[in-house]
Amino acid sequence: MNSAGRFAPSPSGELHVGNLRTAILAWLFARSTGRTFLLRVEDLDRARSGAEAGQLGDLQAVGVTWDGDVVRQTARGPLYAGAISRLEAAGLTYECFCTRREIQEAPSAPHAPQGAYPGTCRNLDTAELEFKRSTRPAAIRLRADTAEYTVRDLLHGEFTGVVDDFVLRRNDGVTAYNLAVVVDDAEQGIDQVVRGDDLLPSTPRQAYLASLLGIPSPEYAHVPLVVNSDGARLAKRDGAVTLRDLADAGSPPAAVRDRLLESLGLPAGPLGNALAAFAPDALPREPWVWGGP
Ligand code: GLU
Repeated sequence: MNSAGRFAPSPSGELHVGNLRTAILAWLFARSTGRTFLLRVEDLDRARSGAEAGQLGDLQAVGVTWDGDVVRQTARGPLYAGAISRLEAAGLTYECFCTRREIQEAPSAPHAPQGAYPGTCRNLDTAELEFKRSTRPAAIRLRADTAEYTVRDLLHGEFTGVVDDFVLRRNDGVTAYNLAVVVDDAEQGIDQVVRGDDLLPSTPRQAYLASLLGIPSPEYAHVPLVVNSDGARLAKRDGAVTLRDLADAGSPPAAVRDRLLESLGLPAGPLGNALAAFAPDALPREPWVWGGP
């Protein structure tokens, strides 16, 4: 079996320095452990025309290279449908007709963790099901038999988080991220997942789902985010944060790359220099505050 790491951007706009820093880290983790490095475009949702080409160009401009062809989630519908069918056949799914509003307003089940789906549609009888089917299209949810699951993370250690009856396929037919990411990582031979630590809370759901599908969980490393001066996750509205903006402000991509490497305590220059010095244990564990161009 192939052993691989990956970067999996959503092509919703331009990458900013936070995304690029995470991509560099994912590349370093993979290359320093002899893994191949794959690029997957997560375009099921929020895809903006032209964004993918810009993102790939920006990754290359900071030295992040990948093996093989770019994989796009929109080309993989049958794989996701196959996984959902397997779960359905095992009695591990149900149809859900709730609107977002209904979920927010529903009394939460006793002992249910904050934000967990309250289980409204979990046990509908045939008549209720038939009626609801006539009102709106169904989403497909996982019938989870646990409320939490524990994962191991290279930077966070053991992390236990909420598992609820999360959505596998939305009611507009789009595969949910939590299902797609698990199916894709397994199918692509990805056994190391390095990504921003904003995704750590979703990880127990994904690892639990992987266990139900008989897939071994990958090794995880959730890396600190880049934040603005208010401590909030960096966003486009924080000014010059993309390679294009920064080039306009006088910092070419190589200078941005060097600044990102410096923020990680790694030597400047082509990523090969950083690779030689890379030690996951020595990485900063705090968010990095972006000080502007
Ligand atoms: N596509 C997700 C994002 O750009 C990343 C998902 C992942 O790395 O698992 O936030």
